[in-house]
Amino acid sequence: MKILVLNSGSSSLKFQLFDMPQAKVLVKGLAERIGEKTSRFLANDYEINQPVSSHKEALHLLMDYLLNRGRQIIKDTSEIVGVGHRVVHGGNTFVQTTLITEEVKNKIRELFSLAPLHNPANLIGIETGEEIFGNAKQIAVFDTAFHQSIPIENHKYAIPVDFYNKGVRKYGFHGISHQYVSREANKIIGRTDTKLITLHLGNGASATAVRNGKSFDTSMGFGPMNGLIMGTRSGDIDQSVIFYLMDKLNYKSAEIQNILNKQSGMKALAGSNDLRDIETASGNGDKQAQLALDMYAGTIKKYIGNYTAQMNGMDALVFTAGIGENSQKIRELVCKDMNYLGIEIDDTKNKNPEAYHGDISGKNSKVQILVIPTNEELEIAKQTFELM
Ligand code: AMP
Repeated sequence: MKILVLNSGSSSLKFQLFDMPQAKVLVKGLAERIGEKTSRFLANDYEINQPVSSHKEALHLLMDYLLNRGRQIIKDTSEIVGVGHRVVHGGNTFVQTTLITEEVKNKIRELFSLAPLHNPANLIGIETGEEIFGNAKQIAVFDTAFHQSIPIENHKYAIPVDFYNKGVRKYGFHGISHQYVSREANKIIGRTDTKLITLHLGNGASATAVRNGKSFDTSMGFGPMNGLIMGTRSGDIDQSVIFYLMDKLNYKSAEIQNILNKQSGMKALAGSNDLRDIETASGNGDKQAQLALDMYAGTIKKYIGNYTAQMNGMDALVFTAGIGENSQKIRELVCKDMNYLGIEIDDTKNKNPEAYHGDISGKNSKVQILVIPTNEELEIAKQTFELM
């Protein structure tokens, strides 16, 4: 059964075509800078540099690629029976993967105010998918859905209840990734009644406590800015700072949004949001870069302590996403001096986790330390297949 996964951003469209249930990837690619002169379309090893004016045109290019007789990937569009769409915000409405109907699209539209950068782009992807793959079932997989299991004591803010009734609460993000790696971790451990802490460390970053396969708490909240220090986002910050910037330093709300979203985090601390640059600078003796790495790892440690206390223990600590999967240094700093919690990393294994099936735990570590590459597209394909 062929399932197409679409991850639609405001000016990009990432796609993967899977043959399920074998989970064989037939095509993987993206269209980026859609609408700009420098746009490009890439599918497997095929690249075109002609301008791509819209998401619709990108999907037409994909169709041409798939139907090309020489390639023989599909003979007819009807072979694609399901299209799985990543949707960032499902609010309180969507607690699981959902078949898309007019009503579902209206609800996604109602949630625009909660995810103004993402949900409108996701809806464009859905509507284009419907137009081009009219015979296929369109299915929405929400980034927030996994976190809907977070109990009220962990998702409610201590502010007047009227706001809670209006939807002001912790939602959490990166749910598709946390769900994928926690399932994979449970497979490695060999049971599902586990206590895990999953660390999604990419440009955006979040930590999640996963108890018995369900999200129990997570570091992002109402929006995706708080929690861990990220590439350009501040992570946790005292609310008073915002009022000070506004009332005393005369910054406008939109300017503060921009500062906390795009000018903060590692970029503010070390001048770059690319961890590779920061590691190199730190290696060359740059003190700011070293401080940034220590603060980055330190914030993660605080969340590990918090979640271990909340769950009264931890079976495994999981690193994933660009930094989690690739940065030996960050894994080392996070796990350093954590033997009180039973976390002991093996330095040799940490250099090359793949050679050890991702298990980098030291001999005496009570906690299994795992590096598991995330695969959000595969998770979307699996959930789309399961629903169908
Ligand atoms: P993602 O958003 O998951 O693509 O992750 C992006 C982040 O991963 C960026 O900060 C990159 O600098 C970081 N990253 C990617 N590869 C490496 C690497 N080999 N070492 C350290 N950081 C890396």
